[in-house]
Amino acid sequence: MQADTTTSTPRDPRLRIGIVGGGIGGVALAVALSRQPDLEVHLFEAAERFSEIGAGVSFGPNAVRAISLLGLETAYRRIADASPAPFEDVWFEWRRGRDEAYLTASLAAGCGQSSVHRADFLNAIVAHLPEGIAHFGKRCRTVAQDAEGVCVRFEDDSEFRGDLLIGYDGIKSAVREHVLPVADYGEVGPRWSGTQAYRGLVPTERLRRAIVEAGCDERLAMVPQMYLGPDRHILTFPVKQAALINVVAFITDRSSPEPRLPEGAPWVVEVSQQAMLDDFPGWGAASKAILGCIDHPTRWALHELPELPRYARDRVLIVGDAAHAMLPHQGAGAGQALEDAYVLASLLGDPACDRDGAATVLSAFEAVRHARACRVQVTSREAGELYEYCGEEIGADEVRLSADLERRFDWLWNHDPRDDVTAARCRLGWEYRRSA
Ligand SMILES: Cc1cc2nc3c(=O)[nH]c(=O)nc-3n(C[C@H](O)[C@H](O)[C@H](O)COP(=O)(O)OP(=O)(O)OC[C@H]3O[C@@H](n4cnc5c(N)ncnc54)[C@H](O)[C@@H]3O)c2cc1C
Repeated sequence: MQADTTTSTPRDPRLRIGIVGGGIGGVALAVALSRQPDLEVHLFEAAERFSEIGAGVSFGPNAVRAISLLGLETAYRRIADASPAPFEDVWFEWRRGRDEAYLTASLAAGCGQSSVHRADFLNAIVAHLPEGIAHFGKRCRTVAQDAEGVCVRFEDDSEFRGDLLIGYDGIKSAVREHVLPVADYGEVGPRWSGTQAYRGLVPTERLRRAIVEAGCDERLAMVPQMYLGPDRHILTFPVKQAALINVVAFITDRSSPEPRLPEGAPWVVEVSQQAMLDDFPGWGAASKAILGCIDHPTRWALHELPELPRYARDRVLIVGDAAHAMLPHQGAGAGQALEDAYVLASLLGDPACDRDGAATVLSAFEAVRHARACRVQVTSREAGELYEYCGEEIGADEVRLSADLERRFDWLWNHDPRDDVTAARCRLGWEYRRSA
């Protein structure tokens, strides 16, 4: 059975492309590709509609650059939060969790802390998706390919045949099993990091009052903050035009080099406020005030992928969290998914990419994106260690810690994905052209 494809599509498309997964990355790619009149694009989402959790997501300058290159800047700016004046360039202020003492700040010039409510952002980009491209209730079960094309079969027994398949289906990706078969690559699925994250959204005014009543500066409620301590850290930043504060409180069990969750344990659970507070004994007045504002926390067991040996297998490519799910300590996972979307859309959108050469284009994509994505994964893990006073050669030395935090994100933020496109074009022997 064919999947329902009611969209008005080109009669003889240059490429027929399937995208599995309608999260931030998959939708961004579908929007970008759907602007090319000679491409036929279909987006398959397992759920019955697009949905994101009610939490914040923070974007560094590189992610905001990718959003802008994808033509989504206006939609983004309408809903994005920024650090308030005169702290516009502040990504985070860093403080000691025990007593809120100021350590330093990380500055992202011209960007600061640019964040959104996840569901608002997904809705804003979905609004750019033409009718008929998205298909819901399509959970990918298996993928197969031959020299002619690729076929994805869904759990409802429908299937889609196309020239290329892009797996944007998140950390538990089904497409990944096709790209990296267990028989050849062993088990490359997600692993628990030993870190749990309590999450909550708090009305800003409530948090401001609690902070002031705790005897702390109200700026702690308005300017993005990270509170650091041994095996623990807490972050706050505004979302919903500063009406809400996104709070994430991390605790890490470092007792085992290979931490394991009990078999079958859910990744996300609801917990009591008291259980969360009990996990932060000896923390300062501000931290207690912040956690005291989260009435119904959820606790997330944070998983990541190992660095994968490859992302492409002929006509099939995995991207976003399906390829490089990482710990959230640099606020970079969604940014990498968006960089992927821009680079891939630029390459697949080029008329030089035809059916015969499409697999080579996916290899070129992998060749230019793999090292960067792996480096972001590794440094995200290292950042969490640093924030929790376990950084290599730094530990609890706050002077060295501060110096490191002031500069450590620059390489990540300064990246321009147009350089990846140029590098891939060069590999493909396509004529030199600077991407718009
Ligand atoms: C606590 C936490 C905080 C974070 N904070 C930040 C942050 O501040 N900044 C940042 O940049 N990143 C952050 N991240 C990471 C970010 O959320 C992810 O990197 C990003 O959402 C990945 O996008 P994606 O589109 O690749 O995958 P996802 O958002 O996971 O989307 C995958 C989609 O695929 C669908 N799907 C899954 N399986 C199938 C299937 N078999 N068939 C069809 N569809 C399927 C899902 O329903 C979903 O819609 C954070 C992550 C966590 C856990």
